[in-house]
Amino acid sequence: MDTSFASTNPPPDSQILCQQCAAPLPVEQGAQYVTCQFCGATNFVDKRRAVFHYALRATVREDAAQAALRRWMAGNATVKNLDQKATIEPPNFQLFPMWLVRVRQNGQESVLLEPAGALSISELKRTTIPAADLEPYDHTLDAAAVPPTVPYETMLEWLRNDHGVPAGAIHEVSLVHLPIYIFKYNYKGDRYTAVVDAATSEVFANLFPAKWEVPYLGLGAAVFAAYFCAALMPAIGYAIDGGTGSGLGILLYCLVASVLAVIFFVMAAIISARV
Ligand SMILES: [Zn+2]
Repeated sequence: MDTSFASTNPPPDSQILCQQCAAPLPVEQGAQYVTCQFCGATNFVDKRRAVFHYALRATVREDAAQAALRRWMAGNATVKNLDQKATIEPPNFQLFPMWLVRVRQNGQESVLLEPAGALSISELKRTTIPAADLEPYDHTLDAAAVPPTVPYETMLEWLRNDHGVPAGAIHEVSLVHLPIYIFKYNYKGDRYTAVVDAATSEVFANLFPAKWEVPYLGLGAAVFAAYFCAALMPAIGYAIDGGTGSGLGILLYCLVASVLAVIFFVMAAIISARV
């Protein structure tokens, strides 16, 4: 059996290797981003560990992001006419750091995202990062980039506790700076936050003025109860007067059912005009 791999000297602890070309990186104490002098790749260094550092290119302009937000506000998740009733403040553009973790578990591969900075919208963890759109991070992006503050170890802990992913299942970790627009808007005296992904124009929000569903559920229950009672008419008619009774019952049922349909339709229209 060939044991040459096992006998290869592991790199000494003091050496951190470039994630792209495996050349030793000149890491200074406290430096977080190191550019490899051989291949030019930017590495993110955390606790003597280097991970590849990517950025996702922003392809959505500010006006398009605002349009995406308004479409979301006009949609079904939020309260009616939120796009017209809310006052939207100018957004704040930033490159937000995320740990992108490739996991191999039970023969399946998956990609998990954990924030590498303080994230106000945890929903953003659900975003998708197309691997093909990842570009090596470059220092011209520094001005908009939020520095990572969540250590590698903390991210490992989250994966273990929240997703049941043991460290052994982690197959690759990289740091990705994700372009986002952070929007604040005011509605009925409250201030809300929504994030628009500047690569996909997808909208993320944790708290927002949601559509009030109670009246719809109430209406649904009323419809069910009313039709259930109406459907008993032919049976009651039969019990009272046999064949003639059930015939009359069916006739009566048809009449009542169509009146009910009109009533419920009007009620639904009134509710959806107000909520
Ligand atoms: Zn390199």
